[in-house]
Amino acid sequence: GGDAPLLSVHGLCVRFRGITALDGVSFDVRRGQIAGLIGPNGAGKTTLFNCLSRLYGYSEGRITFDGRPMEDVPRHKVAGMGIGRTFQNLALFASMTVLDNIKVGRHPRTRKGFLASALRLPGVAEEEADSTRRASELVRFLGLEEVAQQRVAELPFGTRKRVELGRALASEPSLLLLDEPAAGLNHEEVGSLGSLIKAIRDQYHLTVLLVEHHMGLVMSVSDHVVALNFGRKISEGTPAQVRKDPEVVQAYLGTE
Ligand code: ATP
Repeated sequence: GGDAPLLSVHGLCVRFRGITALDGVSFDVRRGQIAGLIGPNGAGKTTLFNCLSRLYGYSEGRITFDGRPMEDVPRHKVAGMGIGRTFQNLALFASMTVLDNIKVGRHPRTRKGFLASALRLPGVAEEEADSTRRASELVRFLGLEEVAQQRVAELPFGTRKRVELGRALASEPSLLLLDEPAAGLNHEEVGSLGSLIKAIRDQYHLTVLLVEHHMGLVMSVSDHVVALNFGRKISEGTPAQVRKDPEVVQAYLGTE
């Protein structure tokens, strides 16, 4: 239904041998929200993202996406069901062009997929045309027209991060997971990233979950913030509420 949360995480526990990376974490992300996930190093943010992408299993708890339990979804179906993501360490094909990298991101949504397209099997022509249209539109939206035919390896880091956004958006996700999008960007780039994340949400009507260390960015773009520390949720609420929560202040002071 329209009012049900798009993403619901309930009682999530992840253990690696002796380490409890997530310890009963629960929160909801409502449709159309930009939600921020914060916490000091080792808090469990990346582990949570990896659970959402089905890269990690979990010993306890439940993740529900669009009303559907994620436990039943194999890893290779995650993108196709509408969860797109970017990575802390960019996951692009360095020797391919910007446009082609974005087109690759489209494959989870196409009927015949990457292999059929690579082998040029019959019937892929229409899908190819559609993928090119969508990729070209994203190139324009992200302001990448001038570099569309350049190889990713030749581009500055900030530009490559935009390409990765395009790759994630190409599959038309309803939930976009952004893993530290501001890492490695300069001050000016972080400023425009904030506007871009909001523009993406508005233009493509999607929901965003953002893991980010850059507090200025999280607090300025998020509608809702969830704070983790040592695998537990220590606070959630509006940016203003979370920022002044003594538990959050303490968690960050403890790491200085
Ligand atoms: P950062 O902000 O530094 O990226 P984080 O909040 O993303 O930190 P995680 O990377 O999720 O934190 O790590 C949570 C805990 O789980 C840490 O103690 C980490 O060492 C541990 N951990 C994460 N992944 C693994 C793994 N694959 N094997 C063993 N331990 C892991």
